[in-house]
Amino acid sequence: MAMKALDIYKHLPKTNCKKCGYPTCLAFAMKLAVGKADVEACPDLEAEARTLLGGVTRPPVRLVTIGTGERSVAVGEEFVLFRHEKTFYHPPGIVVQVSDAWPDDEVRSVVEMVEETVVHRVGQDLVLNGVAVKYESNLPERFAEVVTLAGGGNSLPLALIADDPGALEAALAVAGHYRPLIHAATEENHEALAALAKRYGCPLAVRAADPAELAALAGKCADAGVPDIVLDPAPSSLAGFVAIATDIRKAAIGRTEPALGYPLSIDAGAFGDADAAIAAGILKYAGIIVVPPLSPASVEAALTLRQNIYTDPQKPIQVTPGIYPINEPGRNAPVLLTVNFSLTYFTLLGYLEASRIPCYLFIADTEGLSVLTAVAGGKLTETLVADSIKEFGVGDLVDHRLLVIPGYAAPLSGKIEDATGWKVLVGPRDAADLPGYLETEWKT
Ligand code: SF4
Repeated sequence: MAMKALDIYKHLPKTNCKKCGYPTCLAFAMKLAVGKADVEACPDLEAEARTLLGGVTRPPVRLVTIGTGERSVAVGEEFVLFRHEKTFYHPPGIVVQVSDAWPDDEVRSVVEMVEETVVHRVGQDLVLNGVAVKYESNLPERFAEVVTLAGGGNSLPLALIADDPGALEAALAVAGHYRPLIHAATEENHEALAALAKRYGCPLAVRAADPAELAALAGKCADAGVPDIVLDPAPSSLAGFVAIATDIRKAAIGRTEPALGYPLSIDAGAFGDADAAIAAGILKYAGIIVVPPLSPASVEAALTLRQNIYTDPQKPIQVTPGIYPINEPGRNAPVLLTVNFSLTYFTLLGYLEASRIPCYLFIADTEGLSVLTAVAGGKLTETLVADSIKEFGVGDLVDHRLLVIPGYAAPLSGKIEDATGWKVLVGPRDAADLPGYLETEWKT
């Protein structure tokens, strides 16, 4: 079980020496309690206290990094079972599988797709994370060749999928320094694979169908000196994956089985409906999702779902408040008030740009709340609008004093007029209706 800051504090040296980087032992204890500091930062801890506090203050799911450099992917370090309890921190890495039995051109086209795919959504660039190479040729040198190809100029994180230590050794000889995920150790090969993972400093996946066997295998690999482990529960069905993944996350969060405190992996291609398997993996705790080459629609669906699930529910994605010119507006262009909830902004932007109507989008700071929520919660107020008009110099940009407000903000129209001196026009509720509204209603 997690410990409270004061309970942690009782085990610290209480000298306030600051060697940990915090001004007092209590400040350090408070950071430890929320998983934002590592117990190793205090050099003066007794061995017994170090072991005790390490067990209760480290993230219940270990952070594991695959790959190196800019495109490396870090997964795990999660603290809760349900997203609404806090947030999920590290989105799963989606790695696209190729086979070393495929011709080079086919491998290259998948690698290029992974390298070049970018989905722009609510101000973020969403990408696929890497390539998984499956050993099917039975030729270790061919496996190594395809692993080299799949590295895509050595920038993409890799997963090496093979049971044969000889094939993995050949692949690691060419790509080991890029920190690929070795996938996967089993009861039969774990000693050889753990030795390879240790030698190359790579993360290692372990595979067993039973959670108790999985924990035992992870424990053996950890004891062999492999710190970064990924758990593959090898489910026989999607329902099985959801059940096992939930049990494993519960055991990790509750710290009832430390050997299960690692990220999970799922092979979405092993199921009839890969899209459903990807969704299950995103929703139910997968850290690595191995997928077959996907259609653009499936890629977009997967990346969008992942973005949604791994957005902090208490901090909506926001745009910077201010005044945004669209379609080169002049001094008679309409000024359209809205909020800084990203989805609202980007939805409006799409419709307005497509309409080619020159206008100013005037974004008030509602702390990322949508219009309806901001009005109901008192975040969008006449005072905010009046202050924002002054702060952003809205009046300096146009010759008129007309402000179009969202339909859902209609109850504030009179108050905004009184507070700002601007005449308020109540626009439509739906962003899709705004261009039509401006064409018929906007007159200066
Ligand atoms: S290094 Fe240890 S003893 Fe020194 S202030 Fe930090 S927690 Fe206290």
